[in-house]
Amino acid sequence: MICLFGGTFDPVHNGHLHAARTAASYLACRTRLVLSARPPHRRLPAASLQDRWAMLKSACADVPELIPDDSEIKSPNDSYTVETLGRVRRRNPDRQVFWVLGMDAFGDLPTWHRWREVFDLAHLLLLSRPGSKLDPPARAVYERYRLDGKPSSAAGGILKVDAPMLDVSASGIRADLAEERPVSHLLPNGVQAYIRQHGLYAGDRATA
Ligand code: ATP
Repeated sequence: MICLFGGTFDPVHNGHLHAARTAASYLACRTRLVLSARPPHRRLPAASLQDRWAMLKSACADVPELIPDDSEIKSPNDSYTVETLGRVRRRNPDRQVFWVLGMDAFGDLPTWHRWREVFDLAHLLLLSRPGSKLDPPARAVYERYRLDGKPSSAAGGILKVDAPMLDVSASGIRADLAEERPVSHLLPNGVQAYIRQHGLYAGDRATA
């Protein structure tokens, strides 16, 4: 089984770690946190690729069930999930693959590049996200692909896990840091230290 959790991780925070660990424990495997190096669908990340990767490695360092994954950094192309999953599938033709995402990200799925092909390559593991609900287009996709239990197939369905998630967002943290509000309860210690040492997200460099 392969479990992948993609994000810009700008910065990686306790909400991400809790989500990734929930997926790992649910599927009884390790979760690979795939850094979206060049996200084509959203504005440029506030921190550099190098800083986001250093923070992600630091956050995963002491958590045995989490693995930082640099495959999208190594690819010269834009970071499209369908292409990342295609590479994983070519190397692992028969294994079960799960792509983990929060409810907010799932809401955007119908706008993703070649999104239907994602279901030829992987299952989705859908996690709740405080404040996010499924709007009608995303609900229709969910109803079309929903699974009612763990699948035996390699790909093709959506498994919803109703574990509580933390009300933490990277944009909220960037706004807090820009306003010098405390964030120590929202970030792993190493990430907080890295942000301080490198002066990330301070003043006018930070954008919510
Ligand atoms: P931003 O606030 O800048 O949009 P973010 O906190 O949503 O950032 P991303 O890196 O964009 O972080 O998200 C990567 C993935 O992590 C997405 O699938 C998103 O739904 C999920 N995610 C982020 N925060 C949480 C959380 N608190 N609980 C569950 N899933 C989360």
